[in-house]
Amino acid sequence: MSETTYDLVIIGAGPAGYVGAVRAAQLGLRVACVEKEPELGGTCLQVGCIPSKALLDSSERYHETLHGLKAHGIAVSGVELDLPAMMARKSKIVAKLSQEIPVLFKKHGIEHSYGTAGLVEPGVVRVDGEQQSTIRSRHILIATGSVPAGLPGIEWQERIGTSTEALAFPEVPRRLIVIGGGAIGLELGSVWRRLGAEVTVLEYLDHILPGSDAEIAQLALRAFKKQRIGFKLEARVQSAVVENDECIVRYNDTEELRGDRVLVAVGRRPLTDGLNLAAVGIDTDGRGFIPVDRQFQTKVPGIYAVGDVIGGALLAHKASQEAIACVEQIATGVGWVNYDTLPNVVYTAPEVAGVGQTEEQLVQNNVPFQKGQFVFRSNGRARILGQTEGVIKILAHQQTDRVLGVHIIGPRAGDLIAEASVAMEYGASSEDIARAWHAHPSLAETIKEAALDVDSRALHA
Ligand code: NAD
Repeated sequence: MSETTYDLVIIGAGPAGYVGAVRAAQLGLRVACVEKEPELGGTCLQVGCIPSKALLDSSERYHETLHGLKAHGIAVSGVELDLPAMMARKSKIVAKLSQEIPVLFKKHGIEHSYGTAGLVEPGVVRVDGEQQSTIRSRHILIATGSVPAGLPGIEWQERIGTSTEALAFPEVPRRLIVIGGGAIGLELGSVWRRLGAEVTVLEYLDHILPGSDAEIAQLALRAFKKQRIGFKLEARVQSAVVENDECIVRYNDTEELRGDRVLVAVGRRPLTDGLNLAAVGIDTDGRGFIPVDRQFQTKVPGIYAVGDVIGGALLAHKASQEAIACVEQIATGVGWVNYDTLPNVVYTAPEVAGVGQTEEQLVQNNVPFQKGQFVFRSNGRARILGQTEGVIKILAHQQTDRVLGVHIIGPRAGDLIAEASVAMEYGASSEDIARAWHAHPSLAETIKEAALDVDSRALHA
């Protein structure tokens, strides 16, 4: 049994863990990172953001080739889907990116340890891998992430699975039932719809995209319906079973829906299995998340947690930023995350993105605000791209004009939202955005126009 002493041991090599390890090493800490999976990168890289976006891109090209090229004067025939090749491309992207993490570790002198880490006592972690080892470290950072949540009444089986299975279906299902109208359900539902599946989303709430600005979520619902994705809202799913190779999903006591595969996408739960939190006296909250203070420290001095395992928005970039702030705090005494400017993106077509407060939150908090908006169909670049569906809205404080929220549905919303995030980080007013340069013709001009519209002076509306 080997034993080594470090400044920091990080448990988990996802976007929180490996990014935190690199930053800590940059700051001169001696770092070890323990990961139970043979490949590094966590959910985001292995079975989340990266493979799903690869399939979103490929399926969008397939769909565009079939239905969008005619308008450009391009005639195509004999277009065929080669699903194994599409899947292989996705896997290659994942493999390439995963291979880069050990290179980063080597470059920064980070010790990578393969195995499942459990806490023994403050400052001591046991790793069960090919061999058992003990790591001693002044600080321990838990970055173990989350796993898909299940539903009572549903057992995982061949045709009823999570996003992990839906990223690798062996064939295009004829009828796909998606339980949950959040980011995962809509992104993967879009992939399979574009590839030809009949997709129905069952959502418990009376709207999709919980937490998004209501007007944007409503427009998103309309856009997805136009793509002939079916929706059953206010549908409380109670069970799903497979009978004779057919999936039967029962909801609202009396209703049922039949399909060939079921994707359960009803949220994720924190992953703390095997961590042995009890050994150091850390309790999780009612939903299983690890409570931490503003410095990401648990109730045990020297033990920290970041990312999905502490709750909040379950987003890779949020996890990375928390890990950076946490290790900067450990190394320098200063580390900070500004959640007010954290962007959220759903990579459907059109994309949906938001940052800051929604219109509903401002109304609820009695914050006086002005709203400016601009539709993509009035933007030259959107017309050129042939992607004119969508709107951008900017919510600015009525007296100070400070931007409080930006919400977009439209082409490349996920890229456009970055400008809004940066502007808000610097405390920009809508007037600041309106007066800043925006190249012509670009989609970014929609932001300028929406900012001008806060003062009712949009130029192209
Ligand atoms: P989610 O929480 O975003 O959505 C789950 C949906 O399932 C909710 O709308 C909920 O009302 C519904 N639901 C719950 N129980 C139900 C039931 N019994 N019947 C019908 N509907 C039910 O969760 P998700 O889409 O699974 O995503 C998990 C997490 O991963 C989220 O936090 C999400 O933000 C994150 N994620 C983000 C991205 C992105 O940023 N692009 C992509 C994928 C996942």
